[in-house]
Amino acid sequence: YTVDLLSLNELPAETKDGKRIFLKANIEVPDEIDSVIAHGADGVGLFRTEFLFMFSGRLPDEDKQYAAYRRVLESMKNKNVIIRTLDLGGDKVLAGVIDNLDEHNPILGWRAIRFCLSNVDIFKTQLRALLRASVYGNLSIMFPLVSSQQELLDALSILDDVKAELDAKSIPYDKNLRVGVMIEVPAAALTADILAQKVDFFSIGTNDLIQYTLAIDRGNEKVAYLYQPFNMGVLRLIRMTVEHAHRVGIPVSMCGEMAGDPLATLLLLGLGLDELSMSPASIPEIKKLIRSVSLNECEELAGTVLSMTNTGDVLRFVEKKMKELG
Ligand code: PEP
Ligand code: MG
Repeated sequence: YTVDLLSLNELPAETKDGKRIFLKANIEVPDEIDSVIAHGADGVGLFRTEFLFMFSGRLPDEDKQYAAYRRVLESMKNKNVIIRTLDLGGDKVLAGVIDNLDEHNPILGWRAIRFCLSNVDIFKTQLRALLRASVYGNLSIMFPLVSSQQELLDALSILDDVKAELDAKSIPYDKNLRVGVMIEVPAAALTADILAQKVDFFSIGTNDLIQYTLAIDRGNEKVAYLYQPFNMGVLRLIRMTVEHAHRVGIPVSMCGEMAGDPLATLLLLGLGLDELSMSPASIPEIKKLIRSVSLNECEELAGTVLSMTNTGDVLRFVEKKMKELG
C-alpha cells in the first residue's frame, strides 16, 4: 500500500481532465525536508518558522535563521518554498520573549503579524534573513493573521525598507520574490478583493479560520465537537476567498489541516483551490484521489454542497461520494 502510493512520486497531482493541483508540504523544522522530498511534494506550502524560535527558547539571530532558510531552499532545488513570518503568541508562547500569560484572550491578542508590527527589530531581522536566503531557491513569503489592509500595508512597507537597506549594501536577493497573506481571519476572507490587490497569492489557514469564524477555541476540548470544517459559514468564506483571488488572477493555497483531509479534497477542488499544503505523509493519498476524479465532477459536487443548509447533510453527501469512488 505504502509502496504503491509512493510510486506516485513521479506523477503530477492532476485531475482526469487535466487540472493540475500543487501539493505541498507543511514543515516546522528544516530536518523535515527529507520527508517532504520522499513523499513527492511540489514544494513547501508552509514553513512555520516560530518553531525555530520555540525550540531554541530564544530569538535566533539573523545568521542562524538565514542558515535554516537557505538549507530548506537549497534542498527543494527550484521548487517553491513558502515561508511564513513569525506566528508567535496565541497558542505559541515563547517564555521571556513573548509572555502573554497576562492576556485574558491570547487567541484574540498579541500574536503573529500584530506581534511583529510592534517588534519591528525582530520582524526586520527575520525579513533580512529571508531575503538573503532567497537567492538560493524559489522563495515566497507570507504574513499570518492579517485582519485588515492597513496591517498588510504596514508589513509590506517594512519589507520594502529591508530591501532598500540590502540594496544600499549591495546584498543580493530575489527581486521577483512573491509575497502572500494567510486568510485565517473572517475579515480577511470578507475583504479578499481588497487584500488581493496588494499580494501575489493567498493561503487559507483553516485551523484559525474555523476557530475565528465559529468562535471555537481550537485547543478547547469542551467545544471541540463544534469545531467543524464543513460548516456552511466556513465553506462560504473559502469560496469567497477563491472567487476574489481568481478575479484578479492570483492563486489560492490552503495550508490548514483541512487541506490534508481526504474527505474534503473533492470539495476543495470544486471550490477552486489551486494548491493544498499538508503534512508530507498525507501527500500520496491526496494525490491518488485527485488523479481519480475530474474537475467537472468536483465542481458539480461543490455546487451541490454550497446549496445545502446543514453540516450533517454536507458530511453525508461527501462521504457517499467517497464510497462511490471506492
Ligand atoms: C492555520 O491556522 O490553519 C495554519 C495553517 O496556521 P497554524 O496552524 O500554524 O496557526
Ligand atoms: Mg494559523
